[in-house]
Formats: sequence, C-alpha cells, structure tokens
Amino acid sequence: MNSIEKFAVIGDPISHSKSPQLHNEFGNEFKFKLSYDKIHTPLSELETQIDRIIELGYRGFNVTLPLKEAMYKIGTLRGYDLSERSMRAQSVNTVSIENEKIFLDNTDGNGFIKSMNCLNAFNLHKKNLLIIGAGGATKGILGPILDVHPESITILNRSFERIALLRVQFNSSLLTFKLLNEMNSNSKLNDYENAVSFDVIINATSSSVSMEDSLINPKYFKNAQLVIDLFYAKKLTNFLRAAKEGGCNNVMDGFPMLVEQAAESFYVWTGLKPDTNKLISKRNVFFE
Ligand code: NAP
Repeated sequence: MNSIEKFAVIGDPISHSKSPQLHNEFGNEFKFKLSYDKIHTPLSELETQIDRIIELGYRGFNVTLPLKEAMYKIGTLRGYDLSERSMRAQSVNTVSIENEKIFLDNTDGNGFIKSMNCLNAFNLHKKNLLIIGAGGATKGILGPILDVHPESITILNRSFERIALLRVQFNSSLLTFKLLNEMNSNSKLNDYENAVSFDVIINATSSSVSMEDSLINPKYFKNAQLVIDLFYAKKLTNFLRAAKEGGCNNVMDGFPMLVEQAAESFYVWTGLKPDTNKLISKRNVFFE
C-alpha cells in the first residue's frame, strides 16, 4: 500500500480523544500509512459532516459521544449496510467507506469484553451486575455481556426516557431497570441494607467527563469484586476513587476498552490485528 489512507473520529467534545494516537500506533506496527483527524461535530451537523467526510475520500471514521445513536438512525434511513452488532446495539462507533459502499459497525462491546483480559480474564458469568447509564456505551456493551450469562443486570439511569427504550430493545429476564435517584446517597428510597449486593459495578454515564460525584451511595462498593468506569483519564476518576474509598480495590477505567475497541475498528478497516497489550501497558504515554 503506497498511498495514505485517511481516517477520523467525530464527536462533541473531541479534543480529549486519544484515537489519533492509537491508530497512528497501529499504523506504525504494520507500516500501514494512514492519517487520522479529530473532527469536532455537534449533533446538529452530523448529516452534513458525514457527506463531507465521504466527499473528501476518507476510508473510515469513528463516532463518539454523543453521536453513536444518531449515526445508527441516519444509517438505517439512508440504507447503509449494518453489522449485526451495530443492529443489536442500535448504535454505531465505526464507519467504513470502500468503493462508495458504506458499512456501519459497533466495536464497543467486543472492546469491553476483551478489556477483561487486563483483570486476569475476570469472568462476568453468574455475576450480579450494576450498570449506571443507558446511553450509546451501555447499548454497545449490553449484548456481549448478556452473551456471557451473568446472574442479573440492573440498569440505573438518571432519567426515564432511555430506560424505556432499552427495556424494549433488550428484552431479557436478566434485566432490571431503576432510576438513579433510587440508589444515590440522598434517596429515601435507598434501602441499601436490604438491597442485592452487586459483584460488578460499571459506570457507563458521561458524568466523569465533568468529574462529578460517585453517582451511587458508596455503600454499594463494599461488596463489589470489580468496579469499572468506562471513562478514562490520567488520574483515577472520581467514581473509581469513591469505589476504592468504599472498599473495592479492584478497579479499572475505560483505557483498556478504548484500546481494544480501537483495535477492532482498525481490524474492520484493514484486516490487521494490532498488539493491544503493548499499548495498554504503556498508557502513560497517552496522557503526557
Ligand atoms: P451518551 O450516549 O451521551 O449517554 C450518556 C449517559 O450518561 C446517559 O445515560 C445519561 O443519562 C448519563 N449521564 C450523563 N450525565 C450524567 C450525570 N451528570 N449524572 C448521571 N448520569 C448522567 O454517552 P455514551 O456514548 O453512552 O458514553 C458514556 C461514557 O462511556 C462516556 O464517559 C464515554 O467516554 C464512555 N465510553 C468509553 C468507551 C471506551 O472505549 N472506554 C467507549 C464508549 C463510551 P440521561 O439518559 O439521563 O441523560
């Protein structure tokens, strides 16, 4: 391959994205010549941005917060090809453009499950899970998590709208839905002492982007075997700090998942499988 292939990530905000660094590393590993841009794209400009990217000859692009669900809707309306996993998630994070054919995919779930390898292949089978958030990230990881057959999954969200949609989308007896204010520290409904204890707690909200509080009553962390924040940052997120203070030392942020989902996107575009362990182990380089 002599010519440079163009890729990008679109989202809002986008300046914090590590995707260009990751994809440049993948390119270097295989001597695959690529460029990878960050393109700031508010939701209201998504349709025109997609057209612009196609016109400029990009080979593919990633879609991040808050555009994944809108990208799926646009893709279905326009009749683009959809992978099974993007249809299951009804959310898209990877777009491939080849010979005027557009293919939409979702690599988040695959990336999440592979990130468990960083935790000595922690197994979600038969575990009681709490997932906080019901947006694009939750939609992406929920199908692959259900495939592992956990004991139960409780989904907690700040507002009702997304819960209602998710309930219809993933019709499984393993799922229970609650509002966040039922489990936060202030809630009179918070009957922690009599509640199910969760083995695994996952923060899939975008609240860590603005570094807010721990979201749930910290007592829930005490019996957890693992706490994950899908957000990633140089330092421990507030959520993971609260988890440690609450008694769970086994915590992981979203950086391993970020690397794994990016590697899967790269594979979708190029057919090449990057060495993800190497990049995960040198995470500090990505936060300098
Ligand atoms: P999204 O589709 O915009 O959904 C955001 C979710 O967060 C919604 O459920 C929303 O609740 C909730 N939320 C937002 N602010 C909140 C707050 N202050 N308190 C409580 N809940 C709040 O975003 P997304 O794509 O799902 O992304 C969610 C997170 O996952 C982000 O931090 C993103 O960076 C991370 N992520 C990481 C990876 C990775 O590879 N590591 C991949 C994908 C996503 P409402 O419905 O009430 O608005």
